Amino acid sequence: MSLLTERDEIVGELRGAHRFLLTTHENPDGDALGSLLGMHLVLEQLGKDSVMFLAASQFPLPYEYQRMHLDEVRHELPEDVNERTIVFLDCGNIDRTPVSFLQGDHLHVLNIDHHHDNTRFGTVNLVVAGASCAAEIVYDLAKELGVEITPELAEALYIGLTTDTGKFMFENTTPKAHTMAAELIEAGVSPQGVHRKLYEELPEARLQLLARALANVYRYDDGALTLTHLTRQAFAESGATESDSEGIVDHMRQVEGTIMAGLVRELLDKEGMRKVSLRSTDGRVDVSIIARGLGGGGHRQAAGFTTDLPFEQLIERLRTEMAAQL
Ligand code: 5GP
Ligand code: MN
Repeated sequence: MSLLTERDEIVGELRGAHRFLLTTHENPDGDALGSLLGMHLVLEQLGKDSVMFLAASQFPLPYEYQRMHLDEVRHELPEDVNERTIVFLDCGNIDRTPVSFLQGDHLHVLNIDHHHDNTRFGTVNLVVAGASCAAEIVYDLAKELGVEITPELAEALYIGLTTDTGKFMFENTTPKAHTMAAELIEAGVSPQGVHRKLYEELPEARLQLLARALANVYRYDDGALTLTHLTRQAFAESGATESDSEGIVDHMRQVEGTIMAGLVRELLDKEGMRKVSLRSTDGRVDVSIIARGLGGGGHRQAAGFTTDLPFEQLIERLRTEMAAQL
């Protein structure tokens, strides 16, 4: 189906239905939460009954997002969930919800996302791979639905935009991303205020975790692969939580000669399991192919997966997969 028809269909659904349940992927990031809150504010303006939902296991949210207006997010599904239109935002794959109930095919699901490898799990899908972030799709929908871009809505969308583009530095930083930023600033966003909320006033544990990550950098294949490994011990010593590792992989991509950067971290609640974040510095390697091959997914230049491979085997696998693409 063409994008135009998909968009029309989604707009029709948003206009036509009255009760909604909005959700996003596990370990939500700025775009997940920004598009979630943004869509909620859009639906509220349309006079709809909108409920935001995240599984209890997702709380507390990462520290930087705790200052967003997310106190209305529910941890439990409402009783009438079967009658609600379910809206997934920024979620490329239905396995990325920790709530098995939401994976049932009895539900009416709108899937609004920008991952090119989205599995189109929704009843109706709006997958815009060229959008810099899911928040950009929500912004376009908001305009099409004729809602006012209030300062609160603008800030939620700006948070999705600035985090998913790496503060306007990644390859998804399109002219449209900048146009959207300009319009959101005109609508009342303070870029400096958002920056302070997201990237400053952070717990010292983050710095301590970063110190451990930087003290343990591994380089392979003449430095083409640069990664760091955070053990449970590193988390314990620094007093950090899992979400405190966000952004650490970006330090790996900064190193000269790096083609693929990685952060490997031991999961605190699942012994023997590791979460891997991959980044491609210049597009020579499509990291989403590697992540998909290991049960995950993502974008060409930013992807991830969870694995039970021991560290050494994992490294061998990453090196082989990288070499296969070079
Ligand atoms: P991060 O490395 O920051 O966790 O994620 C980078 C990108 O990869 C994001 O777009 C995210 O949606 C995707 N991603 C990360 N982990 C997974 C995963 O386990 N499964 C899938 N399908 N995508 C993932
Ligand atoms: Mn996103």
